[in-house]
Amino acid sequence: MKHYSLDEWMKYVKNEVDDDTREMFEDHLYSCDQCLDLYLIAVEEAEDELPVMADELNFTDMVMSKVQNQSQAIIIPFPEQKKPEKKKTVHKTAIFHYAVAAAMTILLMTTGVFQSLTQYAEGVQNTNFQEKKNSVTEGLVDKTFAWMDSLESNNKEEGK
Ligand SMILES: [Zn+2]
Repeated sequence: MKHYSLDEWMKYVKNEVDDDTREMFEDHLYSCDQCLDLYLIAVEEAEDELPVMADELNFTDMVMSKVQNQSQAIIIPFPEQKKPEKKKTVHKTAIFHYAVAAAMTILLMTTGVFQSLTQYAEGVQNTNFQEKKNSVTEGLVDKTFAWMDSLESNNKEEGK
């Protein structure tokens, strides 16, 4: 098992690692008492660093950078931040539905669902076949839409 050094835990405590590293550190922390001790030492050291006021200008800079780090850390997981993304998704839903319906229609057409229809039409040599096929395709798209709508309403009911 790879362990992390006190310096690395200091970085973690001071919020100086990226999200992936943070996750790795946290996963390791759950399963390693040795590193948990180092982590607690790092927390204590980080706390000790805060009240040092040898230079007031540096202190101000330090506070400002801490505030920036803090606000970043707070803003990112905030639920309200995700709402605009959801709205975008809703706007795209109609186009998405059509794309899925079209893709499914093509899939069904190419996987032999229409094969029997085509063979039948060839035998009859029906000049209206093209029209017929179009209406069948439209009907299938409608059915696919209806099916997706029922899926969606089922999902909504499950969400309640
Ligand atoms: Zn460890």
